Amino acid sequence: MFILLLGAPGSGKGTQGKILAERLGLPKITTGDLLRAAVKAATPLGREAKKFMDDGKLVPDSVILNLIKEELAKPEAWTGAVLDGFPRTAAQAELVDRRLGERGQRLNHILLLDVPEEELVRRMTGRAAAEGRRIPARHGPLDRPLRAARHRASGARDGRGRRHRRGDQAHHRAMITIKSPREIETMAAAGRVVAETLALVARHVRPGVSTEQLDRVAEDFIRSHPGARPSFKGLYDFPATLCTSINQEVVHGIPSPRRVLKEGDLLSVDVGVWRDGLHADSAATFPVGPVSPEAQRLLQVTRDALSAGVAQARAGNHVGDIGHAVQQVAEGAGFSVVRELVGHGIGSSFHEDPQIPNYGKPKRGPRLMPGMTIAIEPMVNVGGPEIRTLEDKWTVVTEDGSLSAHFEHTVAIVENGGLPRILTVAD
Ligand code: MG
Ligand code: MG
Repeated sequence: MFILLLGAPGSGKGTQGKILAERLGLPKITTGDLLRAAVKAATPLGREAKKFMDDGKLVPDSVILNLIKEELAKPEAWTGAVLDGFPRTAAQAELVDRRLGERGQRLNHILLLDVPEEELVRRMTGRAAAEGRRIPARHGPLDRPLRAARHRASGARDGRGRRHRRGDQAHHRAMITIKSPREIETMAAAGRVVAETLALVARHVRPGVSTEQLDRVAEDFIRSHPGARPSFKGLYDFPATLCTSINQEVVHGIPSPRRVLKEGDLLSVDVGVWRDGLHADSAATFPVGPVSPEAQRLLQVTRDALSAGVAQARAGNHVGDIGHAVQQVAEGAGFSVVRELVGHGIGSSFHEDPQIPNYGKPKRGPRLMPGMTIAIEPMVNVGGPEIRTLEDKWTVVTEDGSLSAHFEHTVAIVENGGLPRILTVAD
């Protein structure tokens, strides 16, 4: 019997896998253990892997594939095994299918350990502390709920603390997940609540209203839907349902009774909804009463930049095509795009790979495939692209104090290179 355990780091795959393996008398195979053992024994594959690890690089999938191949060929894995956290790339899945198929076997059971993201973060930070490791600085709220990106050419994948488990390099690759049609329908159901929440908030935006009042309206509305809850609340310890960012604030503003809207303000509202296991994410910037011509133009340009990005989100295109289109529109209008914060893949985790920068070059970056779900979210500044984070550790503002706007949709890449399905729309 072959059992596959899936789940994010911290979901308990290791613990549950060990219990299952002991009870069923099967070996438990994890790519992390295979790697460690191979490196320790200095096997040819272990020596190859070590070279990458010593350079601080990810061990390539080709090495992992060979390790898996070797392991499945061992007599103890002839009749079954508990596979912990792999296959997790298409190539690994094909290999496992092929190897088992050749022997007239198949994966018999697939168990998904679904743990809420805030609990995962709690466990992983606890684990890091227990092991005496410093929690990576970027694990702070600074880059949440949007993820700050350091777009280094390589190794930019250490964005989240949960990827810092030692010996887990094998799992760092290809975190891009492909959703089934059913999962996409669930995300669309979450997305409908997101869109309706934004529409509801828009109806409440007026001078004299505090951002905390808006937050309460939004949270009540989201929770009135069975199986739904706000994605942000508790995510990386963010305290609210909405991010409410006013004028020169770009993103991640915390709703507060002291932040009262006044005529002429721009209010950016970002909201995510988790529903039946999957997230959807959207944002919009609203004018508070009449606003300046420049502010109006910023809203229109940012909306257009989002549309241009969405139009590039087609199977066969690359992530760079999206960023390029966004950048062309924003910079073509004399504005700038924020570079340190990016869009993202989204699914059972709020932030998944790939990162979706708002700048880029055509035909660069990961290729888009049907079933990928991504949040595209231009943040456009009237002045320069530079940003900084306030002392509350959350609110991101433009360095030069200029106005900023933010529009976002979650979209699903469809077959045959067609325009994507926008999931964050109302019926
Ligand atoms: Mg968002
Ligand atoms: Mg987002």
